[in-house]
Amino acid sequence: MMNPPTEIRLFGTASDSIVDGPGLRFAVFVQGCSHHCPGCHNLKSQDPSGGQIRTLDSLMEEIKANGLVHDVTLSGGEPFEQAAACAELARRLKDEGYGLWAYSGYLYEDLCEKAKEEPAIGQLLELADVLVDGPFIEAQKSLGLEWKGSANQRVIDLAATRQAGHIVLWTHQEEDFNRPLKW
Ligand code: SF4
Repeated sequence: MMNPPTEIRLFGTASDSIVDGPGLRFAVFVQGCSHHCPGCHNLKSQDPSGGQIRTLDSLMEEIKANGLVHDVTLSGGEPFEQAAACAELARRLKDEGYGLWAYSGYLYEDLCEKAKEEPAIGQLLELADVLVDGPFIEAQKSLGLEWKGSANQRVIDLAATRQAGHIVLWTHQEEDFNRPLKW
């Protein structure tokens, strides 16, 4: 069996993001993305040989150093083009009890197809809680969209989707607490 990766190529990190999913999150921006969406929010993250190589050990230390953060988001760049490193990071995060969202310019259905050739893609889909999928489409851009840049993108509840056998969108769990106990 191949040893799991120990390094990841990163564009950067944000230790206290509130725009990459609900709540206070640690955002990991991977380096390299082949989608080249016009109007990309993060042009400098596209070059697959840019950014810097980090060990997963040091990245985990950086994440754990922020004791207030219990959720991590993988963004980019394209996390699924470094699927093995991202899956290993995801495995370590889940072992420590972190919640995990991932962004991808690929569609969920395409990632499931790709997973047949590259098992790490399937592992990352299994480990993440939520996937925000699809390319950024400038004509469908809106600042009013929650957790996504353009209206075509979907915020997918991965466990519910696997169970149902069709796409199930993620909904705010917090809103349940606002509901009256009895109608
Ligand atoms: S998928 Fe994201 S990072 Fe990649 S080109 Fe599109 S907007 Fe930029």
